[in-house]
Amino acid sequence: MFQKILIANRGEIALRVLRAAKELGIQTVAVHSTADADAMHVRLADESVCIGPPPSRDSYLNIHQIVAACEITGADAIHPGYGFLSENARFADILAAHNITFIGPSGDHIRIMGDKIEAKRTAKRLGIPVVPGSDGAVTEEKEARRIAGEIGYPVIIKASAGGGGRGMKVARSEADLEIALATARTEAGAAFGDDAVYIEKYLEKPRHIEVQIVGDGRGGAIHLGERDCSLQRRHQKVWEEANSPALNAEERARIGAICANAIADLGYSGAGTIEFLYEDGEFYFIEMNTRLQVEHPVTEAITGIDLVHEQIRVASGGGLSVRQDEVRFQGHAIECRINAEDPRTFTPSPGTITHFHTPGGLGIRVDSGVYSGYRIPPYYDSLIGKLIVHGRNRVECMMRLRRALDEFVVDGIKTTLPLFRDLVGNGDIANGDYDIHWLEKYLAAKD
Ligand code: ADP
Repeated sequence: MFQKILIANRGEIALRVLRAAKELGIQTVAVHSTADADAMHVRLADESVCIGPPPSRDSYLNIHQIVAACEITGADAIHPGYGFLSENARFADILAAHNITFIGPSGDHIRIMGDKIEAKRTAKRLGIPVVPGSDGAVTEEKEARRIAGEIGYPVIIKASAGGGGRGMKVARSEADLEIALATARTEAGAAFGDDAVYIEKYLEKPRHIEVQIVGDGRGGAIHLGERDCSLQRRHQKVWEEANSPALNAEERARIGAICANAIADLGYSGAGTIEFLYEDGEFYFIEMNTRLQVEHPVTEAITGIDLVHEQIRVASGGGLSVRQDEVRFQGHAIECRINAEDPRTFTPSPGTITHFHTPGGLGIRVDSGVYSGYRIPPYYDSLIGKLIVHGRNRVECMMRLRRALDEFVVDGIKTTLPLFRDLVGNGDIANGDYDIHWLEKYLAAKD
């Protein structure tokens, strides 16, 4: 087992990882920018190192500084959290070269999944169902027309190097195709420095369902069921649930087994998420994230398994703590992402939190790095906390969520709490009846 872990992140996820390390009796090192000197993760860690000025590229993305912090403190492993360097294959390679363990998959596995065309090809080879579309990059309009004709309109053109929901264009008919292809390529080139694009069938009303997997790096893997993250705004997840209200136990077991087998075949090490669009009873792979996700706590709530413990165990060569036949799914969990944003316009609302009171009681978990008197720096993302609620079933979970939202107080800044108070009283949400476009339509209708 590791002696000391450096956490290359900030905010709630740095605290999350720190807690898991402490439970395992491992020393922790926090790194921080000058803007985060007062942050909770810095206060709670055994040691801390300032790695640079506020902009992320000079601090949390600064590989040299992070490796140096590791060497100064004698940390033997790095947990990257999510975002920042968590899916940076070069970072994983550099750590390996320095004999520092990256708590995550190999650089090669990160690389494969980071390229969407390669990821889709790999998924297909491993027996994972994918969205019908081109086999690889498409450059010629003639070829695009042939493929689109075969799979049928509407189609979506996506950037191979894409991410964060950017670089996608929908063509509803052959007349749209030429412009969609050209704009997608131009935008992809400008945004990602790589203009490779591919074509997929555009699904009209899918749900976003993702499967949590953990590989032991020795050819074994388990799945921990799915999360439904269909409630999105601008492709950003807002509310996540486990299990999905749309799946039954049989479908869960089927897609879970497909994913676990694929991950085992790949020889993958660590936690990961295989993301699907789900429509009319069919799953279509869209991408794999090779890291811990923001929404991982809903899976922890219904399985009782600490995903960061598993990541650390696997990375240290200790293997998984559970077998697939020991995994049980109990009850229902929902996570609300609370952002420091105006709940109507979603513009960031940095500033000082004058009062911060979190709800408590049975089935409530709040993961947050902020406190009363904390000044939110304007440099980073606006997530200030996650409210995760667990109940014996979805109805109980929703009742508890409503109560918890009433109890939550954040004064001094605007937050997205009012949005969740609206959603929890909505009929479609109560029925679990929503797809990936539901939230955008709901917000547009409210304006
Ligand atoms: P990114 O890496 O940019 O997040 P994804 O491939 O994960 O890109 O897609 C992001 C979102 O775009 C999906 O959650 C979904 O809302 C939409 N999307 C992607 N592919 C399709 C498709 N074939 N049909 C319909 N919507 C899609």
